[in-house]
Amino acid sequence: MPSRVAKEISKFQSNFLWGGVVEDNKRRIHWVSWKNVCLPIECGGLGLKNISDFNMSLLNKWRWRILKGEDSLWFNLLKARYRDIAMNSFCGGKDEVCWRVSGDGIFSVASCYSLIARKRIPCGPFEKFNEVLSLIWKMDIPYKIKAFGWRFFVNRLPFKDLLLVRDIVLSPENLKCVFCGIDPENREHSFLKCKGVEVVWREISSWIGKPWRVIEEECKACFMDWYSVCKKNKVKVNKLGVVWIATMWILWISRNGICFWNEVWDVNNTLWKIKSLLWKWSFFGEITHPISSFYEFNKDPLLFLS
Ligand SMILES: [Zn+2]
Repeated sequence: MPSRVAKEISKFQSNFLWGGVVEDNKRRIHWVSWKNVCLPIECGGLGLKNISDFNMSLLNKWRWRILKGEDSLWFNLLKARYRDIAMNSFCGGKDEVCWRVSGDGIFSVASCYSLIARKRIPCGPFEKFNEVLSLIWKMDIPYKIKAFGWRFFVNRLPFKDLLLVRDIVLSPENLKCVFCGIDPENREHSFLKCKGVEVVWREISSWIGKPWRVIEEECKACFMDWYSVCKKNKVKVNKLGVVWIATMWILWISRNGICFWNEVWDVNNTLWKIKSLLWKWSFFGEITHPISSFYEFNKDPLLFLS
């Protein structure tokens, strides 16, 4: 496949992921570059296949067959056409050619693809490995919410500070956090440290039987702190982060309601929304204790968490 075609396919995939093109031919913001979307999930990507890399792996399968002496005409043709990073991974002469990457020395497309993909793992919000990023995909929650959690933790939700960086003009008044109306909005402030949401975290954590407050500066560290607290409280592994994500999601919905629909910030209403969402999610996955009503769940959420 020519690289131009691979690029076109990737562009199409990326447009699809970020919602295509809107009226007046303006492209929607692609919050995460396609190269990073294709990273493994524990490195901050979505683990999608990079077409160019996959194509290269398939070509190397040809190269392998040819080196094994299957067809020399094809080998010369391909050698003239492609030079790639996997070239050095073949070793030995014609008779004892082997593939260094896998233990048995036999070539496989999957091992070649992961060799190429590993070389793309960068630094920054997209990391070599982050436990939080792999944990969100394992939770018993709807896929849409996992995607929200992913964008939250790689800091690619349209918070006002990020819109500013992307040259989207907002008035100075508009840059403020909607919960307190004082500090500028950004991920760590508005969802964790803001005085306006402090009470939400306090109430929700007491509700699940473990009073907790934000002490960490950075949100991934903060999540891990919550995670270890829940673990000590014998909460089931796949439910550990669920309360956290539900709280984040409802805070985000409330923030958007205030920003776009002139709603007012209402702590009690927010708490009620978080609890009822968690009640709905309690039917997800394996249910060890059937929950008959919201009333019971509200009284003892640990029935579903532990
Ligand atoms: Zn605030």
